[in-house]
Amino acid sequence: MLNFDDDVVAPAVSPPDNAAPAQRAAHAQPVSAPTAGHVADYRAQMNEQPQTVAEPPAEVAKASRVRAEDKRVINGGADVNQLVPFKYTWAWDKYLAGCANHWMPQEINMQRDIELWKRADGLTDDERLIIKRNLGFFVTADSLAANNIVLGTYRHITAPECRQYLLRQAFEEAIHTHAYQYIVQSLGLDEAEIFNSYHEVKCIRDKDDFLIPFIDTLTNPNFKTGTPQADQDLLKSLIVFSCIMEGLFFYVGFVQILSMGRQNKMTGAAEQYQYILRDESMHCNFGIDLVNTIKMENPHLWTESFKEEIRVLFKRGVELEYAYAEDTMPRGVLGLNASQFKEYLRFIANRRCQQIGIDPLFEKAENPFPWMSEVMDLKKEKNFFETRVTEYQTGGALSWE
Ligand code: FE
Repeated sequence: MLNFDDDVVAPAVSPPDNAAPAQRAAHAQPVSAPTAGHVADYRAQMNEQPQTVAEPPAEVAKASRVRAEDKRVINGGADVNQLVPFKYTWAWDKYLAGCANHWMPQEINMQRDIELWKRADGLTDDERLIIKRNLGFFVTADSLAANNIVLGTYRHITAPECRQYLLRQAFEEAIHTHAYQYIVQSLGLDEAEIFNSYHEVKCIRDKDDFLIPFIDTLTNPNFKTGTPQADQDLLKSLIVFSCIMEGLFFYVGFVQILSMGRQNKMTGAAEQYQYILRDESMHCNFGIDLVNTIKMENPHLWTESFKEEIRVLFKRGVELEYAYAEDTMPRGVLGLNASQFKEYLRFIANRRCQQIGIDPLFEKAENPFPWMSEVMDLKKEKNFFETRVTEYQTGGALSWE
């Protein structure tokens, strides 16, 4: 169940298979068995004596096969093309869960939203502002997320199970961008205005300006992991991306649109957001598992000064998201007001910190929106799947004649 209160945490990652040193690499050589290193030596010898044996003996070749215990999430020496033998089953399980949650935006009927939006008295100005700001942030946010994965994170992660999930996640980010574009198009909004909001609306631009340096770190072609500084930079970017962007910056917008849906307004958009929230909850949890596994495999990265840097980033993230709440809700609307979000964002930030092993930042922060947990659990929505196309065209349905 994807419940905000139990959406994560503790048992998600397995402890390392043994207490071997963090840098134990794929080419580490056990005493009794031949290894990839032996094979390389053997091949080198063969190059010197080409007339002898053309191929290494079978048992030597077998010794070069990938072993689960040789895999590492970063700086791994094992072959990144070999998904099995599995080591990071939590990542594979999330890949399967992501696929099981597959959906497409055009499956959701937007007719009621279109009628409500076009009716002069259908929505108040404050409600319209929320929708335009929401779309203004999200239409580009998920593109930033997709680029961060495809052009950055992916190449630095050496566990094939994690790469498999990242490929699924990248497609989900594309689906989300599609969903926002579909809402913009359905409502007939000014596309240039919405898609340029991240340049033109300060509270949106400020959030993106905060994120972009961390994305730039990972997408810089000269960036390479393998030193403590670079590995900390990677870890920091992963935390910012999963815990602050996907885990915090999305939540004012989610609460606003889902509140609208609960009041029977913009129900098509709310349904799209509900699917997106389910996906994003998984992205956030995957990122947290990724961070925690890197910490376990590389404990030297998790220093006090590094943790302090992360706390500062969380506090800044809460400020930025609160500024967004104030800008998008200049007055009370839908039973919501900006000050409720101060508490909510502190509550979420505390939770994210705890999930990665940092003490809560704020005292006594309660969740003012406990209903969000239920919204995330789609199984409770009795009519939710009524409009859904459940039968996808699969390989078995294709005809080759
Ligand atoms: Fe995401």
